[in-house]
Amino acid sequence: MMMTKEAGAGGARPERLGVGPQAVSEVQPIVDAISVRRRFVLSSHSRPDGDSIGSQLALAYALRALGKEVEVVNADPAPGPLMTFPGAPDIRIAANVGDDFDAAIILECSDLARTGVTGLDQFFVINIDHHPGNSGYGQLRWFDPSAAACGEMVFELVRALGAPLTLEVATHIYLAILTDTGSFHYSSISPRTFDICRQVLEAGVNPVTVARSVYDSNNMGRLKLFGAVLSAMQLDSNGRIAIVYLDHEMARAAGGTYEDTEGLINLPLTVKEIQAVVFFKQIEGEQFRVSMRSKGEIDIGAVAKEFAGGGHKNAAGCSVTGAIDALQKLFIEKVGRAIQVELETRDSELDTRHSKLETS
Ligand code: 5GP
Ligand code: MN
Repeated sequence: MMMTKEAGAGGARPERLGVGPQAVSEVQPIVDAISVRRRFVLSSHSRPDGDSIGSQLALAYALRALGKEVEVVNADPAPGPLMTFPGAPDIRIAANVGDDFDAAIILECSDLARTGVTGLDQFFVINIDHHPGNSGYGQLRWFDPSAAACGEMVFELVRALGAPLTLEVATHIYLAILTDTGSFHYSSISPRTFDICRQVLEAGVNPVTVARSVYDSNNMGRLKLFGAVLSAMQLDSNGRIAIVYLDHEMARAAGGTYEDTEGLINLPLTVKEIQAVVFFKQIEGEQFRVSMRSKGEIDIGAVAKEFAGGGHKNAAGCSVTGAIDALQKLFIEKVGRAIQVELETRDSELDTRHSKLETS
């Protein structure tokens, strides 16, 4: 749902605890559509992350508890560490969905094409997402960019459906929130985030076990790959932007794979001075996947959009083609500008506050 603009630091945030009246009005048509249908296919974006896996599987378990037939179909398997979560190995990996369903519920996916799965559009499509820039596909849409994870929306839907908050459902909601907030680092977190976390913990989720499964179940190749990539890291002239790079040769030499780089992008941000990270992964030749992360109000989502990508203020990505040196220079320039905009906004807010103090 569209929220009123949030007040800045220290200002009052909108009440978002539990299901508010606005959410009810947007959830109810989805509840109604689900109640008159029986066979559902669930999908999400290709190369799924914790929010896409958690959102899909939480809803799958909830719908099954209501007696529905559910299949989750994705273009790519869950990342290795998430395979230990209930239902993850049972996700069907396919490029086409088949024709045995009454409705398709697409979660955490800004455009139907991003599923990488064809045939979904032959069904009644329900689009549930929190990505700014969602293309508005589907017969029913529920879009809430104020949700820190799509899993927050799934929690509200599960409640509205009257489905039990089983341990499986609760675990997947927590997985979605933990991973999509970058382990509670991003500015998208709200009181609602913690209210939902409280409820899923009361339902039996062990946050220590979940965090260990997600973040501490690596193989040695992954650690070596992290070492190789980080020792080749470069900084811009101000030391505020980190550029990391990986190609197939580096991965082979370290004994790791591209999948093993999940989470690597967050490490440069642990350095106080580093405000943003741009991670280039070679696909082949001069084709690259770009992942970006930033701190606070620095909007790298807007940068990704300039390159026909998308994402959020603090986590975004796109695909680009070109000579790597020129691309790195270009992204340093664009991200540098995003940092500058954030600094200027902060300065002008400080000025306003000072002048208010002086006149009062
Ligand atoms: P990641 O860097 O983990 O691949 O993606 C970070 C965020 O940006 C995720 O929310 C992801 O959905 C979004 N994102 C990444 N790449 C793209 C892209 O090419 N297009 C769009 N629309 N969103 C992207
Ligand atoms: Mn998400």
